[in-house]
Amino acid sequence: MATRILRVPHVVIVGGGFGGLWAARGLRRAPVTLTVVDRRNHHIFQPLLYQVATATLSPADIASPIRQVLRRQRSTEVLMAEVEDFDLGRRQVVFTDGERLEYDYLILATGATHAYFGHPEWEPLAPGLKTLEDATEIRRRYLLAFEAAEREEDPEEQRALLTFVVIGGGATGVEMAGAMADTARHAIARDFRRIDPSQARIVLLEGGPRLLAAYPEELSTYAREALQLRGVEVRTGSIVTDVQPELVRIGPETIRTRNVVWAAGVTASPLGKRLGVPTDRVGRVEILPELSIPGHPEVCVIGDLASLDGADGNPLPGVAQVAMQMGRHAASNVVASIEGGVRRPFKYRDKGSMAVVGRNAAVLHAGRVKLTGMLAWLGWLLIHILFLIGFRNRFFVFAQWAWSYLSWQRAARLITGAVGSELAPPGKPLGTPDAPQSQSGRDAEAAARQGQTAPSDTEAPGWMSGDRHQAGSPR
Ligand SMILES: Cc1cc2nc3c(=O)[nH]c(=O)nc-3n(C[C@H](O)[C@H](O)[C@H](O)COP(=O)(O)OP(=O)(O)OC[C@H]3O[C@@H](n4cnc5c(N)ncnc54)[C@H](O)[C@@H]3O)c2cc1C
Repeated sequence: MATRILRVPHVVIVGGGFGGLWAARGLRRAPVTLTVVDRRNHHIFQPLLYQVATATLSPADIASPIRQVLRRQRSTEVLMAEVEDFDLGRRQVVFTDGERLEYDYLILATGATHAYFGHPEWEPLAPGLKTLEDATEIRRRYLLAFEAAEREEDPEEQRALLTFVVIGGGATGVEMAGAMADTARHAIARDFRRIDPSQARIVLLEGGPRLLAAYPEELSTYAREALQLRGVEVRTGSIVTDVQPELVRIGPETIRTRNVVWAAGVTASPLGKRLGVPTDRVGRVEILPELSIPGHPEVCVIGDLASLDGADGNPLPGVAQVAMQMGRHAASNVVASIEGGVRRPFKYRDKGSMAVVGRNAAVLHAGRVKLTGMLAWLGWLLIHILFLIGFRNRFFVFAQWAWSYLSWQRAARLITGAVGSELAPPGKPLGTPDAPQSQSGRDAEAAARQGQTAPSDTEAPGWMSGDRHQAGSPR
């Protein structure tokens, strides 16, 4: 009697972010061999990136090696490689070094990056927050500005150095502005002799009529007032028209500043376009309800790279909960395909959203529950600790937060990387005469070359997520 040797299907997941990791975990007991491919060796807990950028946490506190996260899954291997293309006919992914990897099922979860509304030249001047490199670069410029101001004799130059502009009033912009204000007003307030850091001017610019546009109006109002209490200048209805090395323009108005942070737009990973199926205006792949692409049931696209309407007819927001739930769902549909079961359509369960404004101040929206202040802030702390990957990270982040709360200090006030001969060279980013472009910046450029643009006036909600946001908006 002839023996039939059954080959175990090979699943390839590209991307070890929230979507990819949750898909991998969903496949841990499945009858498959699994390869997770990422161009970085670590998963980043993006919701806490702003705390690295404002010196509260260190990069290692919010990142975990993907290999370590998945080490107990014996049938899973992790490859560090950058994917640049696909051969859907041969069922292969193509790496940048030309190597190819075959799959039976592919789950693509390469996320999103910043969008500069067709102005990639703004990226070196106004870095966005996506990677650990972005966060440490923003931290470097933020801390360098105080150092340069301490040495600056011209009061006008000093004022420009101590003016910080955050562009984008979504959750990331609100969190950045609040944390910058808390750091300047408390953590470093007494450490300088010639300048008073608490006098730093922090301006938050939002193109739309209110901050946190995806939240109920009273929560937006609370966020605005809580930021203003911290001394942040909140400017809504302010569309940025130009960013230059020493200024930001809002129509005819000019703000002199040496320090700009971009939190105003996202665009999908350029890999989405390589699938050759329709994408939306920000490059997100238009997927079928059971998360695959038209004509290729073996290819699923999930997370920030996927465009799918929710029950209310609006596109699902680019937030971690969507990516995680899609990851789990894609895994179960792959198993259903292998076992001859039925693939189910994806249904997003909105568990709510939250954003932090600063010490003791946050907003939380879940169903009919709307919380502000201390209670929302405690809820935010708890949820973030619970969702952080790895016991070590949870332990260290909790310890850092407790220490920062009690001492009003920031533990990670390090200016890393080479500083130019001048701290504040005229016409150049602070301390970086030749600032290298980050990976996310290169992605943004690639996306811009493909003509993807993003709207400026929408935003997505915070952790736990759930509020509707429109394609291309930052959270
Ligand atoms: C600053 C910031 C704060 C945020 N805060 C919140 C929050 O509070 N709450 C919330 O719900 N959501 C938040 N989000 C959104 C949330 O992080 C995303 O929705 C979520 O990470 C999307 O998951 P993903 O798996 O689709 O993509 P990602 O988590 O971005 O993962 C993509 C992965 O793909 C890899 N990759 C990309 N291109 C390639 C390639 N060509 N080859 C190989 N690997 C590649 C990347 O290295 C990365 O590991 C925040 C996002 C940011 C940037």
